[in-house]
Amino acid sequence: MLPLETLKENLAEVERRILAACTRAGRSRDSVQLVAVTKRHPPELVKTAWDLGLRHFGENYAQELRDKHEALSAQAGIRWHAIGPVQPKNAKYVAKAAHVFHALERLEVAQELSRRRTGAPLRCFVEVNVAGEASKAGLEPSSVAAFIEQVRALPNLEVAGLMCMPPLDENPEISRPAFKQLAQLAKQLGLSGLSMGTTGDFEVAIEEGATHVRVGTALFGERPAA
Ligand SMILES: *Cc1c(COP(=O)(O)O)cnc(C)c1O
Repeated sequence: MLPLETLKENLAEVERRILAACTRAGRSRDSVQLVAVTKRHPPELVKTAWDLGLRHFGENYAQELRDKHEALSAQAGIRWHAIGPVQPKNAKYVAKAAHVFHALERLEVAQELSRRRTGAPLRCFVEVNVAGEASKAGLEPSSVAAFIEQVRALPNLEVAGLMCMPPLDENPEISRPAFKQLAQLAKQLGLSGLSMGTTGDFEVAIEEGATHVRVGTALFGERPAA
């Protein structure tokens, strides 16, 4: 596992870069939520990150989320973000453990989340395939408005905004058009939340209006193999 000192330095560096991007964009640091992506890392690492003050954690896989939610249940105020696509049969784990769901793209999953959710409504970001790649997750931009209407008719869910995951590239500027497009679509739809930006491009995402950045590798290093 990552030594505490390294994690501390990584966190300080990510925070410095977030703040610099906010400053460039004329935004306050408070307008961006850092979601620390801990997928495939052990619960002990989450605990260490918690001890350093992180509270919002992102997980991709529903069962792993369930297990970490359980393992970290003593950490009151921990906020779990489910950031990966989920199968309808696993939606119950997300409904139970997650504070926010970032990858909503199927009505069947929304229905299952709605049925299973108790307590506060689950805040959901609708995933959009802005780059228009055939193989990528997310809805076509043209079908987002109708999808949101359907989700809004379901109890226990709340549409928080839009999310995207553009293709990874060495050059973060490659993501900028996708982020711009997502921000524009959110504005048209009257949505304030924008979940966009990962280790490779979170500064560009902040410049384009991200309210949630999902950062794993820059904080925790390379992930263990699945
Ligand atoms: C893994 C993952 C991230 C974090 O990616 P890093 O490059 O490690 O920062 C963010 N969002 C989603 C949807 C992911 O699957």
